Amino acid sequence: MNIGFDLDKVLISYPPFVPSRLVNRLYKSNNDKALTYRIPAYPEQLFRKATHLPFLRRPIVENLALLRRIPKEGNTFYLISSRYKFLEPETNRIIKKYRLDNIFDGLYFNFENKQPHLFKNEVIKKLKLDRYVDDDLSLLTFVAKHNGKTKFFWLNEENKYGELEKNVFAIPKLVDVFQ
Ligand SMILES: [Mg+2]
Repeated sequence: MNIGFDLDKVLISYPPFVPSRLVNRLYKSNNDKALTYRIPAYPEQLFRKATHLPFLRRPIVENLALLRRIPKEGNTFYLISSRYKFLEPETNRIIKKYRLDNIFDGLYFNFENKQPHLFKNEVIKKLKLDRYVDDDLSLLTFVAKHNGKTKFFWLNEENKYGELEKNVFAIPKLVDVFQ
């Protein structure tokens, strides 16, 4: 199977003690009608860079260990992150530090600053993914509509169920992607 994985909140945690809702608000615009993500202006980029300092972005050890342990025969793993260009140095540091290049057969980053959902939609199509896992439900809802043959997994530990497309499945643990 070709399986794609998001980076933040799937393999790397958000900063501790900050509610996810607040972090998410930094990323998405408040317009409910169409999904749009903001590319922050320079002062906010500096702040966002600070929230990506390595000690604030701890690895999700359990999930990294799982991917190292899963037999690779018949599976191809891809890392697909929509982090923007201004986070390239921080992102490269994380890749090196946790040897993510050893886990994944391909690494895809949004360093051309496309809208995250459009960027991921392109990559999912190009790689003909069988499965893709992400913590962002609005993004999954968008790509699920455009990739009917792909199974999408919404990783959310609180095990909340939103209104799901028929090819989107809510999972509390990453291991559930392999069942
Ligand atoms: Mg994420």
